[in-house]
Amino acid sequence: MPVYKAEALILRTYKLGEADRIVVFLTRDRGKKRGVAKGARRQRSRFIGGLEPMTRAGVQYYEREQRELVRINFVEPVSCPMAMAFGGEHRDLALGHIGYFAELIDEWAPESHADERLYRLGATVADALAAGAPVERLARYFEYWILRLQGVYPAVTACPGCGAAFDGLAVMPPREHLFVCRRCAPGSNGTTIGREALRFLKAAGAARPDGLASLVLPAAAERELETAHRRLLNLHLEKELKSARVLREMRRPGP
Ligand SMILES: [Zn+2]
Repeated sequence: MPVYKAEALILRTYKLGEADRIVVFLTRDRGKKRGVAKGARRQRSRFIGGLEPMTRAGVQYYEREQRELVRINFVEPVSCPMAMAFGGEHRDLALGHIGYFAELIDEWAPESHADERLYRLGATVADALAAGAPVERLARYFEYWILRLQGVYPAVTACPGCGAAFDGLAVMPPREHLFVCRRCAPGSNGTTIGREALRFLKAAGAARPDGLASLVLPAAAERELETAHRRLLNLHLEKELKSARVLREMRRPGP
């Protein structure tokens, strides 16, 4: 039985039988795996503290012939954003985002197929989370990059309709999934993003997530990007993620 030791990112777990868990994790070298963590639900389990979403960990596992599920020997956590979030000020928002990041990666990572760039994105975002980066800015950054890695982020420098550079405003018309200039979308009541949002996107293309604190993204621009990204993600995933819906409800102003 081949044994592997992988650098990995924990995405989610679910219950198996009385005492075990199935763990979905993204390895750097062999893509997304599903494995059984024996006894993970027992009180004195050796897996405790290592299986929260977005935990970076060393995972040792072995594969069994003809079985899709691997068997996990141990998980050695390196950093755990969830533990950080529990002590933080905006706990619910942070926890909600951790679940959201993990679900997005899970949706996009193919089974058992290494994707080095997706892994690196997930790992650096996990580190930024653990270091206390602002979660909403981090979410817009992460959405931008995950869409860009799939090659589906629309152009943000020039309008594809007329070729003119965006002059501080771009519109995503209803039912379309690209940004055009105001002249190419006359009278359109689509999703508009302004100068600050465009500037953030250009900077995000060159920045690492641990440098996010220095990027400017005022609240209004952040909301514009949230709406535009939600439309892009829902189109490409053909649904709205559960964790995204929860976050949206959390942010809705109260009565
Ligand atoms: Zn145009």
